[in-house]
Amino acid sequence: MQASLRLISGVGKKGPACFLVETDGKRLMLDLGEGPPPGCLPNLDDVGPVDALIISHGHWDHTGGLGLLPKAGNPPIYATEIVAAALPDGLAVEFLPIRGQSEVLGIAVETGRNGHAPGGIWVHFDIGGGFLYTGDYSTESILYAYDPPKRAAATALIDCSYGDYQKPLADCWTELAGFVAKRPLLLPAPANGRGPEIALELMRHGFRDIFIDDATTKALRQLCNGGAVSLHVGIAGEVERLAEIARPIDGPHGVMLAGSADGTSGATARLLPQFEDVSQVGIVFTGYVNPTTPAERLSKSGRAQRMRWNVHPRLSDTVALVRDIKARTIVPAFCDRSQLGALAAALAPARVIMDDVVPI
Ligand SMILES: [Zn+2]
Repeated sequence: MQASLRLISGVGKKGPACFLVETDGKRLMLDLGEGPPPGCLPNLDDVGPVDALIISHGHWDHTGGLGLLPKAGNPPIYATEIVAAALPDGLAVEFLPIRGQSEVLGIAVETGRNGHAPGGIWVHFDIGGGFLYTGDYSTESILYAYDPPKRAAATALIDCSYGDYQKPLADCWTELAGFVAKRPLLLPAPANGRGPEIALELMRHGFRDIFIDDATTKALRQLCNGGAVSLHVGIAGEVERLAEIARPIDGPHGVMLAGSADGTSGATARLLPQFEDVSQVGIVFTGYVNPTTPAERLSKSGRAQRMRWNVHPRLSDTVALVRDIKARTIVPAFCDRSQLGALAAALAPARVIMDDVVPI
């Protein structure tokens, strides 16, 4: 029986991740996010019950829709132990290895670290000619390790958040260093993503006046303990050192890293109103700016600056991945449909499509 991939949400425009794989009578949902924009949920009205939900990593645009699980028949959830620990209590979660072979509903799967978030994985399914779902991934992180998928996948659903963007992470540091030179500086960033990574980069460049919120403190502690499996080999000691030198935010000093990235919750929901009228405090957003958030308001008014800190693949990374896994059909996820032409040109002879249902 032909396997298929249904693109419920997350392809054709920036939106919450939610996909459905159907094979041999089994229905597997991949991620169930909320936003962007905030409040935007996948439409599960005509999806019906699914047999399993696989969560790639803990970011809200991949997990924020878990409230919709009853609509999908409350299936068992599959995630790594690190990701599962941050999910709401009371959910039935089966653990996936952070890298290695396992099975979901009798389907052989391989997982590997996604270089993007603690406990985050890509997933390869042994169905059809092979199918790879990357979730979000990055090849460049100085903190989170990335295991390049090697197994052949005729069809691949790939994180193309940055479309045909090509700038390396080293250039991001050069740009950020210009802002850091004029500190105090508030850098809203997710604690379970680039927050600890930017802090590490600062420490490597000799900065010691690093201040972090409670969530980032907790994230660093977790990376030093059970979360160390997500780190590059040999840097656990450096992360421990970072956890020691980073201090709690107690006013406008140094470089302050705090979540949430868009100012809607967490420490930045408190700090942004406190600092926005204090002109000597710089504010720089380094990720996707969600519509209808403080991040958008402050960026549009010119009070805050924006720059990208790479946490997704560049076009050259996507080209290399497609070559390595010998993919023939690519579904680019998390980018606008306007990127289709550029991606198709770069990835030829592979076929790049954004259809609603894709045979695997
Ligand atoms: Zn993510």
